[in-house]
Amino acid sequence: PFEVLIVGGGPAGAAAAIYAARKGIRTGIAAERFGGQVLDTMAIENFISVPHTEGPKLAAHLEQHVKEYDVEVMNLQKAAKLIPAKSEGGYHEVVLENGASLKGRTLILSTGARWRQMGVPGEDEYRNKGVAYCPHCDGPLFKGKRVAVIGGGNSGVEAAIDLAGIVAHVTLIEFDSQLRADAVLQRKLASLPNVKIITSALTTQVQGDGNKVTGLSYKDRNHGTEHDIELEGIFVQIGLVPNTEWLKDSIALSPRGEIEIDARGETSQPGVFAAGDCTTVPYKQIVIAMGAGSTAALSAFDYLIRLPAS
Ligand code: FAD
Repeated sequence: PFEVLIVGGGPAGAAAAIYAARKGIRTGIAAERFGGQVLDTMAIENFISVPHTEGPKLAAHLEQHVKEYDVEVMNLQKAAKLIPAKSEGGYHEVVLENGASLKGRTLILSTGARWRQMGVPGEDEYRNKGVAYCPHCDGPLFKGKRVAVIGGGNSGVEAAIDLAGIVAHVTLIEFDSQLRADAVLQRKLASLPNVKIITSALTTQVQGDGNKVTGLSYKDRNHGTEHDIELEGIFVQIGLVPNTEWLKDSIALSPRGEIEIDARGETSQPGVFAAGDCTTVPYKQIVIAMGAGSTAALSAFDYLIRLPAS
């Protein structure tokens, strides 16, 4: 059994593993796919102090850094269930999908999140070639170009406002007959000169020239007509889904399924901490996930040293 068992091997989990191992306590990290979302990213230009890197390179560096320490890395292991300790200071059990189970006196949950996809032809093919999911990450790559934002909820409208200050033109496309974002955001959006809003529109295809996005097609849901828009980028903002389905019976989750944590990263279960995109932390970014993973590991250590000697 581990003193600190981390579930999830993205930036949050890697940071937690390094901080825990540096305390000289038995640390393990189990991940379905070590590296996490970073593996699906190309250019990263906001990893502070590194002006430019690429996802697969950063993922390899995460793993290399973790392996500098005495950490048991268990890759390709998917957690299916959490059984909390019966008493304070006891072991929490993580049951894996393959039936095996791992135990930790403290746990750090860092299973991340995934962007909901449109599921239309061209979306996968042009991912990172014009199809983007994160305006904070990729907005500046479209400076002076034309983009669409798919989704008229808060995140879509925030993205459109953000992008309107960087790109030449933004078309916001919403499936419903009206936007769902807060009124104050909608007012702000309506005041911007380079934004066009199209409602009752179903995106049907991402168009490209084989190398990059050149446009998108949508269907007008009122008239059934098909339309094409020429543009260089498409930001899909129809939801970020936390990978927490396996925790719903054991840990308090927010209505969006995010693990509820306090400022120290502690969850509703004593001895169970969480960090990164799977939590209620505001803003989902690499540097934020790393900071949160470090916080969770230090909190786990604080918890361990306060347990009565057994
Ligand atoms: P993740 O990176 O999602 O890692 C989660 C880990 O948990 C993975 O190892 C996963 O396999 C594992 N896991 C999930 N479920 C289970 C389970 N049941 N059992 C075991 N393991 C599990 N951020 C930036 O700061 N800059 C950027 O330029 C940037 N660009 C991005 C581009 C794209 C295309 C995407 C998708 C994201 C981008 N992000 C960027 C966001 C950034 O990648 C995330 O904020 C960050 O990776 C979150 O780290 P995390 O450790 O919380 O989660």
